[in-house]
Amino acid sequence: MAKAQAENERPILVLSNRLPFTVHRGSRGLEQRPSAGGLVSALEPVLRKRGGTWIGWPGIELQDKEQLELEGAPYRVAPVRITEKEATRYYHGFSNRTLWPLFHSLHERARFDRRDWETYRRVNQRFADAAVSAYSPGDIAWVHDYHLMLTPQQMRLKVPDAQIAFFLHIPFPPYDIFRLLPWEEDLLWGLLACDVIGFHVSGYAHNFLDCVERRLGARVDRENMLVEHGDRTVQIGSFPIGIEFDLYEKQALDAPPSKEVRHERIVLGVDRLDYTKGIPERIRAFERLLELYPDYREEVVLLQIAVPSRSQVAEYKELKREIDELVGRVNGRFATSSWSPIRYLYRAVPQDRLAGLYRDAHVALVTPLRDGMNLVAKEYVTCQVEDPGVLVLSRLAGAAETMHEALLVNPYNPDECAEAMHRALSMDEAERGSRVAALRRRERRYNVDFWVRSFLTAAAEDRQTLRPASHSEFETWLGAYLSGYQCALFLDYDGTLTPIVDHPSKALLADSMRSALEACAERADTDVAIVSGRKLEDVRSHVTDPRLTYAGNHGLEVSGPDLPPFRHEDLVHYLSRTDDLAKELERLGVEGAWTERKGPTLTFHYRKVAEPKRDALIEEARSLIIASGFQARDAHCAVEARPPIGWDKGRAVLHILRSRYGRAWSERVRVIYVGDDLTDEDAFRLLAGLAITFRVGPADVPTAASRQLPNVDAVKALVEWVGQRETFESHTPRLVDA
Ligand code: UDP
Repeated sequence: MAKAQAENERPILVLSNRLPFTVHRGSRGLEQRPSAGGLVSALEPVLRKRGGTWIGWPGIELQDKEQLELEGAPYRVAPVRITEKEATRYYHGFSNRTLWPLFHSLHERARFDRRDWETYRRVNQRFADAAVSAYSPGDIAWVHDYHLMLTPQQMRLKVPDAQIAFFLHIPFPPYDIFRLLPWEEDLLWGLLACDVIGFHVSGYAHNFLDCVERRLGARVDRENMLVEHGDRTVQIGSFPIGIEFDLYEKQALDAPPSKEVRHERIVLGVDRLDYTKGIPERIRAFERLLELYPDYREEVVLLQIAVPSRSQVAEYKELKREIDELVGRVNGRFATSSWSPIRYLYRAVPQDRLAGLYRDAHVALVTPLRDGMNLVAKEYVTCQVEDPGVLVLSRLAGAAETMHEALLVNPYNPDECAEAMHRALSMDEAERGSRVAALRRRERRYNVDFWVRSFLTAAAEDRQTLRPASHSEFETWLGAYLSGYQCALFLDYDGTLTPIVDHPSKALLADSMRSALEACAERADTDVAIVSGRKLEDVRSHVTDPRLTYAGNHGLEVSGPDLPPFRHEDLVHYLSRTDDLAKELERLGVEGAWTERKGPTLTFHYRKVAEPKRDALIEEARSLIIASGFQARDAHCAVEARPPIGWDKGRAVLHILRSRYGRAWSERVRVIYVGDDLTDEDAFRLLAGLAITFRVGPADVPTAASRQLPNVDAVKALVEWVGQRETFESHTPRLVDA
């Protein structure tokens, strides 16, 4: 109980594209107006109660000297400065011209522009920086929506222990649509840095799981909605957003009769003017109603409110023109001297008047082509406080997942929509009342406060983890791939076969891992190679099994059964130079730092150096390495100096495969490579398509590997499976073709 209470009090950082108010440059300088809308009114009380910061864009470009006056605000506000040029690419560009249409599965409208993407990344980083400055341990960062999908990872890299949650307010598309995005992996990595990722409905959550599984090869537990992302577990959930039920109900009770309602019955459409909302399709469906059922002429009116939105964008201008023309055509076709079938208002309507309209409309026609949730549907049923109306709702709106009592339609089918309108207009009071009562009961209970509470509770909960990868999973991933082939298993040593420890000499192979390797080595259809950054002799002395192949110094030296010993020919030029470089590095004389001499390469270790001294030391070490003509490469709490000779673990693996099995090796051998380090990324990249590769350990560093494994235990399970897998006749034993 004490814990639950503490969780309820944790301050939150809200990160959303916009601040909870809009800013205008007026005669008295910067003027602020509170933003209306359920999200702001639901989150503000939480921020006031728990404390925290709202991080967002004021919506205009602030001049250098301009500061937002925020004194007296009940919680902190951190404006993120975005120039007009950046807003064009980040907001109008990548957010609204790329992600918005793509995520609504209207992919032919999506534009892919590298410059938009780069600006999006940069602006997301600015949000992350603001969050890092505002963050204190114990806070929960709650990132909102498609504008900020990279921010979680950018924040995680700077605050590894932060509690980060994300909610997507629009749909998440199926994999076949999502994969069209040229930067799809980056977005998945961006989001997977969260502890919790929320979607409106389970369909979107499952789409996301499909994408991480198919694109990143992540392990997914669909029963518990978990993703194993490197060494972390991410909880996925569906949290359908609700509305401020009491407020809408009260406004509906208080509102005077709507001026728009005369003698006709009203079919109401309320939308932002957006191509996802299906307004032209709806007008055509209404036209179809008048064709099929002439009795409704002069008796029913379609009142369509279209709120101007993104009106500077060419596509939205085009849509407006299309709607204007359609309205004109249908009115021209059916209007009489006393009646026009469509009344079209291109403007926003204040909330209290809208509540009156909802109440007085006989039918609400909510038929988006795709919609994350759709609040209009919820507001409409909430406002049915007098004669109950009927909701006709698109199956393609998230709201349709819960609002079963609505008349559900396919918005692309004008006949079905017309029939639903007819059914709605002719429905008796008993049925209307029953449907509305059930719909209202649900919205009253699952209102927006419920949504905030349930999301924040999930965000604060301890994460479950997936059960460890089992042999049956390895069978699924690798069984068919290896079947009938010789298996060449390549394994890095430190961090892969043994956990990372504070000194290389302490990284000893566990007995169980040794047995698993032995079982592989005993098989005629399996060859194992250890590919390490250590000196060849060093890694061999740790593993000891003479049946294995060893590649030391990141593959610059190779030795193994049936292989001519290999030592890269250019190394002679560097042997003496590493010695000189080692002396220079040792002269840096910082406590805790030490230099490991590995023949043609060396490693400068700083794991035991005090944190504040590290950055300067790393910089100095890198400069010395580069000045000596070596490449400086980052490793685990170390910088490596490697000869600049275009050789790496990937090249070494190919060298081994070709030497052992011949140039046509891929006809008879299947390759698995497992590693945990940046140096293994060279192999992952080179082997893409030629092998199945696994990256072990920490998440949040993008990898080129096909799959991830959380830790050394998972590697052991993999090696055990390889050693115990069912035998199939191998294509050819170790035959070298010339
Ligand atoms: N709305 C409004 N003024 C209007 C018409 C609509 O404030 O003149 C509000 C409406 O009450 C609803 C929101 O705009 O809360 C639209 O939300 P929805 O989820 O339906 O669509 P979105 O615009 O977010 O895609």
